[in-house]
Amino acid sequence: MKKEIERIIAQPSEPGMVGDGFRVYNYLPGANISQQRTSPFLLLDFNAEYVFGPSDHIRGVGVHPHKGFETVTIAYKGSVAHTDSSGSSGVINPGDVQWMTAGSGILHKEYHEQAYSKKGGPFEMVQLWVNLPKKDKSTPAHYQAITQEQMSKVVLPGDKGIVNVIAGTFNGTKGSAQTYSPVNLFDIKLKKGGEITTNLPSEYNTAILLVNGKAKVNGEIANEHSFVLFKNAGEEITITAIEDSVLLVLSGEPLNEPIASYGPFVMNTQQEIIASIEEFQSGKFGVLN
Ligand code: MN
Repeated sequence: MKKEIERIIAQPSEPGMVGDGFRVYNYLPGANISQQRTSPFLLLDFNAEYVFGPSDHIRGVGVHPHKGFETVTIAYKGSVAHTDSSGSSGVINPGDVQWMTAGSGILHKEYHEQAYSKKGGPFEMVQLWVNLPKKDKSTPAHYQAITQEQMSKVVLPGDKGIVNVIAGTFNGTKGSAQTYSPVNLFDIKLKKGGEITTNLPSEYNTAILLVNGKAKVNGEIANEHSFVLFKNAGEEITITAIEDSVLLVLSGEPLNEPIASYGPFVMNTQQEIIASIEEFQSGKFGVLN
């Protein structure tokens, strides 16, 4: 049975700035879309393509904490450098995905990569926050750096497109990232006329972001930068590209646990939030300058 569309949400009218480096449209949590409605997905920020001019000042967001969930950064255009309190650092280049498990707590900073910053150019990126089940919230912080080369891929016949299987399983092909609860995350690139069909469980919370282009999703037209939210009914999704398109499909099993959320801390109770803020303030997340 076809998965039913609940609604197609247009691009939010105004972007906001995260630090001075990320010009993002916030889709989740959204107007009338709670964090429970899209569980395990807590937040989706989309830096729709934007050309940053050349700059010697490196734009970005300075040291900040995260605890209790995962941040997933998907780079389409431009490059991001990151450094964290566990001593790790790296660069997320176009086609790469960084899957960071903040778990018990981490400090990090995210900046435009130096060479990109100096040269400037198009920047296009998604940051998705995925909640952790209660039993995994205190897992030590770590991350999976998945490069474009390492990414699990399905090439469509007739050169009609490619599916980068970031997490989960796409038509039998297993994704690259390990997750703590069942999560499917697909970066789908379709040429005009290209089509894919896949099945995702009806009980999973499922949505599609039209990163670029225009496509027909189960018969309805989704314009560039729109967000298609599915009902929890039906399994089958068919996407047909009306123009060359890039789509991000997210689908996950709801955690069905209480959410207590305060900025970069996402726990299950208000007491845990207060404890998390105290841990952060007393330096338990480590040191990062
Ligand atoms: Mn962050």
